[in-house]
Parts: sequence; structure tokens; C-alpha cells
Amino acid sequence: MIDLRTDTVTQPSAGMREAMACAHVGDEQKQEDPTVLALQDRAAALLGQERAVFVPTATMANQIALQAAARPGEEIIAEAQAHVLRAEAGGPAANSGLTAKRIQGDRGIFGAEALRASISPDDPHVPISRVVSVENTHNGGGGSVWLLERIQEVALEARQLRLHLHLDGARLMNAVVSSGTSAADYGAPFDTVTLCFSKGLGCPLGAVLACSEALWERVWRLKFLFGGAMRQAGIVAAACLHALDHNVERLAQDHARARRLAEGWASAGLPVRPALVESNFVMIECADFALDREQVRSRLAAAGVLVSAAAQKDELRAVTHLDITDEDIDCAIDAASLLTAAAAPSGNSQ
Ligand SMILES: *Cc1c(COP(=O)(O)O)cnc(C)c1O
Repeated sequence: MIDLRTDTVTQPSAGMREAMACAHVGDEQKQEDPTVLALQDRAAALLGQERAVFVPTATMANQIALQAAARPGEEIIAEAQAHVLRAEAGGPAANSGLTAKRIQGDRGIFGAEALRASISPDDPHVPISRVVSVENTHNGGGGSVWLLERIQEVALEARQLRLHLHLDGARLMNAVVSSGTSAADYGAPFDTVTLCFSKGLGCPLGAVLACSEALWERVWRLKFLFGGAMRQAGIVAAACLHALDHNVERLAQDHARARRLAEGWASAGLPVRPALVESNFVMIECADFALDREQVRSRLAAAGVLVSAAAQKDELRAVTHLDITDEDIDCAIDAASLLTAAAAPSGNSQ
């Protein structure tokens, strides 16, 4: 099976396992784990922030950020397909009592004007708009990458509107490798930044929430409240440090393979637009295709290629990652030829 459902399916490499086995560890919640402390320092600098807190998942990092930023009854503004609104089990409402306002973006990306237009008026009838979340790369938008200028424009607007500015950078390193913008440049305009290690970076788990020195104490306390304070967590942080050393630049290979897959599938007749591939996602847009989304998914699966339903109705996604080789891409392209041949109308049969 060639598993392109998502980039979380990677197995920790031999080198990563060795780094984990050799890690110096201590009691993380007493701030005595040297490997976690090293990772937090490194992640803060990487993301253009002063401090960082290690947590098990990016979902927890996002949820802590929101609670640090806003009070119950206030409002989070995010793009309509944002992970934080779509795929975190209602966390903003359940954990922090937030209402949500959705900006209709273009493949997940929006501008200052849309942000300004989404702000609730200063009226005691309505929730106070308190926090805006930007997602880069944008998962529901098909792995789209924000330009730094666009981030800066939105950040400037958010400052003027006195909003807390959160970056859900679960896949920020994909954006970095795709755009050439540094993670520090991307991260610096924000109040809080999430980075996930269990996606393209290939770790078994782990994420960080980076923030200012001023916000750190509140974030640290919320980590305990959310159940994210750990013990000998350096065993996992060692994997994250290993990933920063070995698995960042190589994301370019995932992006190149995604482009080649998109071109191959488009040539084979699948409804794919290679020009839209900006990182490691290839979207199959089944709306006007001879087969519906489930038929495409199941036929690819029967040919040994696993893809998954995307956030947008009628779309599938294929995601390249560290356990996908050039040969796998060749096979996945061949599988699509079989499928489109089968889908083509033949004679007078239906
Ligand atoms: C996967 C993902 C998350 C959540 O990450 P977990 O580590 O699985 O909790 C958050 N935001 C985005 C954009 C994601 O793609």
C-alpha cells in the first residue's frame, strides 16, 4: 500500500529512534528535562519568539493559545476551513467558551480587508472579537502557503484592531521550505505560534507553542490545566530535535514529489491542477469528474494507493511524506491511468 492519506503516518526512522533512546531526561513539569528545555529554546528562536512550551499535540497548543488570548463569550476569527474551527472537536467553544466567526478565504488565505470586515462592532449585544488565527500551510486550503507580505498586512491590521494574533503553523516548515521565508520571519509578527512535529517532520508526537516572555507564565499554567504537563518527555523531545536537524530541508523532496504526482495524475486524466500544488498536498477535485469522490478513493485503494477525503466537499487529498519514495510516486501515477481508463465511457454500456 502506498499511503498518501496524510503525512502523520510516518514511522520514526532508525536515527530518530536512536536519538530517543539516548536522550537525557528529567521531570519535564519541574522544568528538569534537559532535552525538553533544549527543544523549547531552539523552537522559540526558530519561530521568532522569546519562549516556547512543549506539548503533546498541535491541537493542545492551539487550544492553550486561544485560552491564553480570550475569555468566555469572546470571539475567534479564522478562515472557514481552519483546522482550529473544523477539526479540533469544537475546542474553542468547549474549552474556552469562544464563539467563532469565519472568513471565506481563497484556499485558506485572506487579507487585511476581509479581517477588518469580519470584526464585530463595539456593541454590548455582540461578542468581542478577540483573536484571529492564521494557518500556514493551510490544510483545508490544500497545503497553500502564505506570502510573508500577506501575513504582515494581516498582522498590521490585527494590531490596529487590538486582536491577539495566533499562527497555527502545524506545517509551518513546509511553508518555509516552499517559500524560502524563514520560520522566524513568519513567526515574529504573531503573539502565539504552534508548530507540530508529527506531520511532515516525522516524529511520533510532539508540538510547541511559542510566545513572548510576557505571555509565557499564563501559557505554562494552561499547559497544566489542559493536562499537557509531562514527566520524562525528553524521550520525545529528542525526536523533535532530531527532526529539526534532519527532516526540514528534505521537505523539498516531498514538495517535488507532490508536484510530479500532480502532473502525472493530471496527464492520466484525473481532475488535478498541478499549478495549485504549493507544498506536499495534491488535491483531486471530483465535482465535475466521471466518478464521485468515494469511487475515486475506493478505486485508487483497490490499486494500492490510499488517499483521503479533504475538507472541501468533493475533494480528495494525497499527501507526500518522508516514507514516500520516487518509486511510490511512479506506482501512484500508474494506478491513476488504470482508474481513468476504467472511468472512460466504453461503447454503449453505461
Ligand atoms: C494536524 C493539524 C493540527 C493538529 O495537530 P495534532 O498534533 O494532530 O493535534 C493543527 N493544525 C493544523 C493546521 C493541522 O494540520
